[in-house]
Amino acid sequence: MTEKKVPFTTEQIKAIIKDYPTPFHIYDEKAIRENARRFYKAFSWVPGGFKDYFAVKALPNPYIMKILKEEGLGADCSSLPELVLSEKVGLKGEDIMFTSNDTPAAEYKKAYELGAVINLDDISHIPFLEKSAGIPELICFRYNPGPLKEGNAIIGKPEEAKYGLTRSQLFDGYRIMKEKGAKRFGLHTMVASNELNPDYFVETAKLLFDLVVEISKEVGITFEFVNLGGGIGIPYKPEQTAVDLEYVGEHIHQAYKDTIEKAGLPPLKVVMECGRMITGPYGYLVTTAIHTKDTYKHYIGLDACMANLMRPALYGAYHHITDMDNQDGKPDFIYDVTGSLCENNDKFAIDRALPEIKVGDIIVIHDTGAHGYAMGFNYNGKLRSAELLLKPDGSVEKIRRAETMDDYFATLDFSRL
Ligand SMILES: *Cc1c(COP(=O)(O)O)cnc(C)c1O
Repeated sequence: MTEKKVPFTTEQIKAIIKDYPTPFHIYDEKAIRENARRFYKAFSWVPGGFKDYFAVKALPNPYIMKILKEEGLGADCSSLPELVLSEKVGLKGEDIMFTSNDTPAAEYKKAYELGAVINLDDISHIPFLEKSAGIPELICFRYNPGPLKEGNAIIGKPEEAKYGLTRSQLFDGYRIMKEKGAKRFGLHTMVASNELNPDYFVETAKLLFDLVVEISKEVGITFEFVNLGGGIGIPYKPEQTAVDLEYVGEHIHQAYKDTIEKAGLPPLKVVMECGRMITGPYGYLVTTAIHTKDTYKHYIGLDACMANLMRPALYGAYHHITDMDNQDGKPDFIYDVTGSLCENNDKFAIDRALPEIKVGDIIVIHDTGAHGYAMGFNYNGKLRSAELLLKPDGSVEKIRRAETMDDYFATLDFSRL
């Protein structure tokens, strides 16, 4: 069970709205920092230091990335703009992981120039990287465990995923890179998303540790790190429970002792590239109810839409909803909570039991701190909102302004009409 709380009172949020009209996303800096520290503590046993490379796609805001940098996180990028954003935040060299797929040459070139850790998605990318940028000293490969012959009840069907190298390709890949002069090596996999089962991550670690032992022997290389990917889930629903990070840290430590230490290998760093669990629960989309409508169903129309948060419409994802003006009311009303797109799936909730909502109420949508603002789009001429930072002292900083119509028209040249 997870209590769905908000980090502000009704009075506080109304004072904020006086300065910054709804809709906006607001991120809780204190909670983000505390969570990051807890994550690092759970892995404090890692020799050479644990690191999470924050998946920039989850929340590509440089002010948030700067906070995360201060907490020791790096950045996980998969496009040129994400690399440039990381550079602007002051992240350097191996604080950046470049985990891309179907990668354009210019992106490899930029990652190479930045000295980022390059994580190759395919064996054919070796000559492609060599031609577009060069052979780096440090190289990582993304493993796709495929149908997992030994059977693994936890890890689903990686063979359906477009990512990564097969097992035999991995051995060849490291051999080729060694011949081409690479000196330092990493191994990566990521086979799940929004996963709440802690054993999943322990299994993933075991898979990689075993492989490190095997490849080290057979190819004659030394691994510097394994990257367990992202995918730690968050409890979007009140009946769900957050992943027990301490459990994950301890059990991965045990697996490390049973494999890496037992094989007498040199110390191996363990890193991850989580995005969602780093910022997801600490962001809130703050909106105003602007219409109520009663036809065959009861509707609440908000001043936000899919452009501000796509997950419910895209995957039917649950996001908890709080009416700041009726927090203690009984959930006796069944509503569809909608946005204004001319798309019937533009709904934040369907048949949701909520307390009575009135026009003008402040409606907060929870867990929008990752894959929220970032997925926004301009369909139907809808503009993306501002992003605000709620600081530990209770003050608020605007960390991205709302889009204007000029932004929407910026790619058009009206003078030639
Ligand atoms: C999306 C992604 C992540 C982050 O996933 P979260 O679910 O946000 O933790 C990490 N690595 C790669 C390669 C990704 O594509």
